[in-house]
Amino acid sequence: SRKHKVTVIGSGNWGSAISKIIGENTLAHPYLFEPEVKMWVYEEDYQVPSSHPKYSPSEHSKPQKLTALINSLHENVKYLPNIPLPPNVQATPDIRDAVHNATILIFNVPHQFVPNIIRQMKGAYLPYARAVSCIKGVDVSAEGISLFSDYIGKHLGIYCGALSGANIATEVAEEKFSETTVAYNPHGDLTPPPEDLAPVDHEILKHLFHRPYFHVRVISDVAGVSLGGALKNVVAIAAGFVDGLGWGDNAKAAIMRVGLMEMQKFGTKYFSETCRTETFTEESCGVADLITSCNGGRNHRCAKLSVEQGKTIEEVERETLNGQKLQGTSTAREVNQFLSARGEEHEFPLFTAVFNILEGKAKVMHPDFCYQRNNTDC
Ligand code: NAD
Ligand code: 13P
Ligand code: CA
Repeated sequence: SRKHKVTVIGSGNWGSAISKIIGENTLAHPYLFEPEVKMWVYEEDYQVPSSHPKYSPSEHSKPQKLTALINSLHENVKYLPNIPLPPNVQATPDIRDAVHNATILIFNVPHQFVPNIIRQMKGAYLPYARAVSCIKGVDVSAEGISLFSDYIGKHLGIYCGALSGANIATEVAEEKFSETTVAYNPHGDLTPPPEDLAPVDHEILKHLFHRPYFHVRVISDVAGVSLGGALKNVVAIAAGFVDGLGWGDNAKAAIMRVGLMEMQKFGTKYFSETCRTETFTEESCGVADLITSCNGGRNHRCAKLSVEQGKTIEEVERETLNGQKLQGTSTAREVNQFLSARGEEHEFPLFTAVFNILEGKAKVMHPDFCYQRNNTDC
C-alpha cells in the first residue's frame, strides 16, 4: 500500500526543529512514510558568519540562498544554527512544489504569514491531504475570531488538526526532553484518501511526531490546543514586564495564575462547543507551555528587555531576534480587537492591560496591573 508523504511549510526556529523530528521519524517508520520530507523555506540571501563552524572561505565569502545553504550544510544556519538536520529533509523555496504530492501538510510559520501562503497554494495540493498546524496565534476578521487550524482547513477545504506544547524550539532541537499535545478530530465533508493509503489517525500522528526526547499525547480538543498556544504568548509578555521591573517570582506566579484563568475563560466563553477547560490544566499545551514561555520564551525575553532598556518590544524584536518573529504582540492586538468589538475587554483585565501597555496607553507601574478595573489608570 501507499505511504504518506510529509511536507513542512515553514523553516524558522520551530519549523526547522519540527522538520528535524519529522525527518527522523519518516526514516524510523519506513512502512508508514516516504523518507523524503520537503521543507518550504521563505527564500532569502544569507551571509554565513565567519565564526560559524561550517564557514568555508571559498564558498561563503558572499551571501548565499538560504535553501542552498540548508541543502548543502544540512543545517538551517540562520534560524536554527548548530543543529544538524537529517539529510532526507530537503529545503525548497517553491511552495507549490513543496505541497505537490504531499499527503500530510505540517504548517509551521509565524501566524501573520499564513493567509499569503494559503493563497499561493491554491490548486497545488492533493484534495485528500490532511494538515496539522503548529502555529501559535489566532485569526481575527470581521466575522470574528478563528483558530489557525480552522482557518487553514476552511481555506484549503481539507481537515487541519493542531500541535502545541511546552516546546522552546532550541531545547527540542538539542534533544532535551519535552512533552507536546497533538489534537486531531476530523469531521464534516472531506475528500477521502485513495483506498491504498491509510487514513491519517491518532496512531499515524503519534508515529510522525513522537521521539524519545519529544513525548506526544494525541487528544481531540483542537480548540483547546490551538488557544493555549496562542493566548499564553500574551501572558508571557506580562510576565516579561514583571521580570523587567524586578518584581520577583511571586508576582510572576500571580500573573501566570490570572493569565491561565483568562485563557480558560476565553476558551469556554467563545469556543464553548469544542474547548475543554481540562485541556488548559492537564495537557502540555496549557499550563506547561505557559510556564516554559514565561521563563524561557522569546515573548517573555523581549518584553523584559523592553522594560529594562526603555524600548518598544518591536524594537527589541528587530534588534535581538535575527529575523525570528514574536507572536504575542500581534495576538494581544487581535484578541483586543475581538474583545473591544464585543465590549468585553473588562472581563479580561490581563489581556487588556498588556494591549494598553503595548499601545503606549498605559505604563507598567505596579504588579497588580492585570487586576485593574479601570483600564486607563493602571
Ligand atoms: P520564527 O520566529 O523563527 O520566524 C522566522 C520565520 O519566518 C523564518 O522561517 C522566515 O523565513 C519566515 N518569514 C519571514 N518573513 C516571511 C514572509 N513574508 N512570509 C513567510 N515567511 C516569512 O518562526 P518559528 O519559531 O518557526 O515559529 C513558527 C510558529 O511556531 C509560531 O506561531 C510560533 O509561535 C510557534 N512556536 C515557536 C516556538 C519556538 O520556540 N520558536 C516553539 C513552539 C511554537
Ligand atoms: P516564544 O515564541 O515566546 O519563544 O514561545 C515559544 C513557545 O511557544 C514554547 O512552547
Ligand atoms: Ca526565576
